[in-house]
Amino acid sequence: MNPMNPKNLKNMLITGASRGIGAAIARAAGSAGYRVGVNYQRSEAAAQKVVADIHAAGGEAVALQADVSRLSEVVRLFSEMDRSLGTLDVLINNAGILASFRVDALDEEQLGAVFQANVFSSFYAAREAVRRMSTAHGGHGGSIVNLSSVASRMGGLSGGAAYAASKAAIDTFTLALAKEVGREGIRVNALRPGLISTEIHQVHGGLDRMHSMAAEVVPLGRAGAAEEVAQAALWLASDAASYVHGTVMDVAGGR
Ligand code: NDP
Repeated sequence: MNPMNPKNLKNMLITGASRGIGAAIARAAGSAGYRVGVNYQRSEAAAQKVVADIHAAGGEAVALQADVSRLSEVVRLFSEMDRSLGTLDVLINNAGILASFRVDALDEEQLGAVFQANVFSSFYAAREAVRRMSTAHGGHGGSIVNLSSVASRMGGLSGGAAYAASKAAIDTFTLALAKEVGREGIRVNALRPGLISTEIHQVHGGLDRMHSMAAEVVPLGRAGAAEEVAQAALWLASDAASYVHGTVMDVAGGR
């Protein structure tokens, strides 16, 4: 018996889990019996609230601060996860930012920030996860779920070229990493949410605007809830999806 994890529950690390989709995945994972690492960058109180909610529902969780767009912080994050919860079973690469600027107005810093937060972060966290989970590294396997977006196949909203291209990189990264580690016990998949009701939409006009747009352009006639994406993430991460690998799955209301 592992004294750190006497019930032998699975450990899940979710990047960017203080708010929005990541927080919904964290709460659902806690209820499903995972021990949850709730990563956040700035929103400490929100992350602590997610942890408190999981504890109140009888689960286990810990809040872990780190800016995942920086490799040194990701290395520290995984060490803290090892120390506080133990062996990693599932990584959800969820942290991301939306940005709105035309290509003819971009500056180096803005463009770099989008790719660092959305793409480099996923590579950095995947490196640390594979080093722990891969049977080639002495691990016992696991599952990685990357958060892409329908922007990767639709080009994004107005001013969303950098964001859309960063998510297309996530689609391709998912396929490539699946080939790299599939024989080492790690399944890798991505989710492509559509318009989901979270604070990320403050960047281009806010939630009311997003909901009106969703009523018009989404075949189901509405925006999605973070909890609806969370259910798909949990399924992809779980053994119920044991032969699902290298897949990019839309959760977009038909859009
Ligand atoms: P939110 O803006 O609601 O939340 C973003 C989360 O990411 C926060 O917890 C934030 O932490 C965290 N975060 C951002 N940058 C970093 C960083 N460098 N290091 C650590 N944490 C970070 O976004 P959503 O929940 O809407 O989005 C989650 C994911 O889903 C993103 O990858 C997004 O691109 C994707 N997505 C969202 C869609 C939507 O319509 N909402 C549609 C398609 C994809 P903190 O608050 O502590 O800074």
